[in-house]
Amino acid sequence: MSTISNKYYNGYLKNNINKIDSNRVNYMEKQVVYSSDNKIKSRIIQSDLIDSYISALESKIEEKTNNNEMIAALRIDEKIDNKDNNIRTQAIYRGVSGSKKVAITFDDTPSPEILRKLINFAKENNVKMVFFVNTKKLSKESAELLKEGLSSGLIRIGNHTHSHNTELFKKLNTKNINLSEEDKKLISKEIDDWEKTLKNYGIEDKYLKHYFRPPGGGGGYKNNNSYILDELSYRGYKYLPMWDVEFIYSINQKRKMDPSYKYNAKNIEDILVNSVEKTKGGNLVLLHFRNEDVEGSLNAIKKLKDKGYNFVFPEELLKDNQIIDNKKS
Ligand SMILES: [Zn+2]
Repeated sequence: MSTISNKYYNGYLKNNINKIDSNRVNYMEKQVVYSSDNKIKSRIIQSDLIDSYISALESKIEEKTNNNEMIAALRIDEKIDNKDNNIRTQAIYRGVSGSKKVAITFDDTPSPEILRKLINFAKENNVKMVFFVNTKKLSKESAELLKEGLSSGLIRIGNHTHSHNTELFKKLNTKNINLSEEDKKLISKEIDDWEKTLKNYGIEDKYLKHYFRPPGGGGGYKNNNSYILDELSYRGYKYLPMWDVEFIYSINQKRKMDPSYKYNAKNIEDILVNSVEKTKGGNLVLLHFRNEDVEGSLNAIKKLKDKGYNFVFPEELLKDNQIIDNKKS
């Protein structure tokens, strides 16, 4: 199998071979077989393998496939030469209570007007935010604003898939579900099309793989099917941030008790301030690109900043590289 060439040699891997666990082999193997089955030849070997590692992998591959079309099917996280790289994508649910740190995230497809408002606010108030965008209906104008936000260092983007197929990702909430090959392809396509669309808009690679949040949260919770975390791990995504404060479900619950309770900016502001103060921080906040969410959350952020809260990226909620692992140990 000369296509997996020795020229892809990496000193880091040679020195750190013991750190590469069997899970990693499985991810790579899975990627190879997947790619082969689907005649996808464009995957690129992004990092390098030592000889013994290559031959071990090749023998596994040959057991599973008898064609030679798996050219460049291996893929390793391009950040593997970063000593801090954790090969396993890390799910984050919330941070440490009492930290006085809060992570703000907005989901779905933003209008340019809303993006303009959020980016200006972030810059004026030194507030970090993550935008989990869908790309199918993302306008060029919005993409340009995302670039502006990214270059400020205060805004990051997360993959929230191309078309927000909630039904598809909902399946991953069932631990033992066996996904069909069709579903697996659709999931890959949702992740890949997001990356492609943003690259076509000129957004640089370095901004693309910080975060992924599944639509509807499917597969992100503890005890869910781990398929999505496996997928993200060999794609090199660093974090899967979920949330501990949100507004759609919580306002619906309140409305059951009081039918006059509304989804409006004031209620969002109050819920956000109260939730954060209850735990003194550590919160991962899920908002949507809606006018009520923007107005309510920006008011809340101002109030909380006056009380000494800092607004950070999700992984900064964790104490000194604390791992909050999705897997039950
Ligand atoms: Zn969403």
